[in-house]
Amino acid sequence: MLSYPKAIEVLKKMHDLGARILIIEGGEPFLWHDGNYTIKDIIKTASRYFYSVGITTNGTFPIIDIPANVVWVSFDGLKENFTKIRGNCFDKVMENIKNSNHPNLYVNITINSINVDEIPDLIKFISKWVKGITIQFHYPYDGYDELTLDFKKRRWVLNKIITLKKEGFPISDSYGALISLKDNSWRCHDWLLVNAEPDGTINQGCYLKNRGKVNCALCGFAAHTELSRAFDMHISSILVGRKVFKYH
Ligand code: SF4
Repeated sequence: MLSYPKAIEVLKKMHDLGARILIIEGGEPFLWHDGNYTIKDIIKTASRYFYSVGITTNGTFPIIDIPANVVWVSFDGLKENFTKIRGNCFDKVMENIKNSNHPNLYVNITINSINVDEIPDLIKFISKWVKGITIQFHYPYDGYDELTLDFKKRRWVLNKIITLKKEGFPISDSYGALISLKDNSWRCHDWLLVNAEPDGTINQGCYLKNRGKVNCALCGFAAHTELSRAFDMHISSILVGRKVFKYH
């Protein structure tokens, strides 16, 4: 809960460090307010500095008139598994997705040992309600945990996702990124990232800094994969960035 002036100061500092695409996430960013200022004011002001502004939400608030270039709803399962992972709010989240008037609404699925077997069904289910789907893998912040997938299972689900993408389901991750995630074979340029912490401190580099142990062998942050591949001039990753973030 930074004040509005402090939040804007942080955004300007991130811009000064070279950031040009901003993604606001939490916690739950839709909860943020400072007096009459809401997250919409942060997004509007940020849009003056950044080429593109995205926001990630848990989907429990209406997604109406959000002035961001892209909105992601974290969506990790069909009803039973969703409830296990995110609590008893599946129906509310679905209602907000269906009622959203945002033209660039995505879901992001974090794949873990609970939901992995239903990922193909989940993609088929949610596809008709959103513009696109992105994925990432659960990262064990405290070392291995029961949600972590082994790489055999990771490869299995990535093959399923690649097949669905070929069939036309709106999976936004590039084929190259999905293939790289099978064995974490991309070259990571984590210095491209600038992260602001809840207290306003800023770190450059891997998202995990100050959050958990950095273990690249277990990384499943597909957005970092795409970003790094784009920097290495993989055209498919550059095009994914242009499409998702709506900048030209
Ligand atoms: S954990 Fe992932 S994002 Fe972080 S530095 Fe390693 S490969 Fe890059």
